[in-house]
Amino acid sequence: MKVPLTVVFLGAPGAGKGTQARVLSGEYGIPHVSTGDILREAIKSKSPLGMEAKKKMDAGELVSDEIVCLIVEERLRRVDCSQGFILDGFPRTIAQAERLAEMLPRLLFPLPMVFHINVGEEELVKRLTGRRSCSVCRQIYNIYGQRPRIEDQCDVCGGKLELREDDKMEVIQERFTEYTNQTEPLIQYYRERGLLFEIDGSKDINSINQDILSVIKSSKVLSN
Ligand code: AMP
Repeated sequence: MKVPLTVVFLGAPGAGKGTQARVLSGEYGIPHVSTGDILREAIKSKSPLGMEAKKKMDAGELVSDEIVCLIVEERLRRVDCSQGFILDGFPRTIAQAERLAEMLPRLLFPLPMVFHINVGEEELVKRLTGRRSCSVCRQIYNIYGQRPRIEDQCDVCGGKLELREDDKMEVIQERFTEYTNQTEPLIQYYRERGLLFEIDGSKDINSINQDILSVIKSSKVLSN
């Protein structure tokens, strides 16, 4: 039986976690699980969970560990995750990483490969303020680089492109602070456990994807 592939993307806001997760998800045919996307969907549908998360998200703060851990466990239990999954934006705190470490063996998943996508702060700000995402299919563009063919319109589905509320300059600084205080310690956490792979996130999308693929392929050779 094939061992499921479990992947975590770590990196500051704007590092390209979502973009790489989406590409890898297509390559391996396993779901891209983004807690940010799930929370934004909950807000759109005006569910109680969404209403609770919205205030925190609009302020650039983290939603409670309890809520996101419940969301993730419910998602990983679905049948489409049986061959593995790619986590994007989770875990974001040591408490969440510990919950994940407890959850994975219980759900019969192996330990994850954790990719830290490393990008300098100046470049991150440019990427975030230039980022536009499709309001329908969530495809990501950037007005400074990966522009859509028609302005403000998604190449894939024709949906309207929007600037995320929390990609506005006022909120970005708060998100960086949350990242430094709460999420950055995870780099050391996963390094100590031998699960961390450093990826140079300043390269273009395709080169980063190639770097990630070569790590996965060489680790598969070792585990076979
Ligand atoms: P993202 O799309 O991953 O940048 O997430 C957008 C926002 O959703 C974050 O700024 C948080 O407010 C919230 N969020 C997403 N994932 C988590 C998580 N694992 N823990 C806490 N809050 C989260």
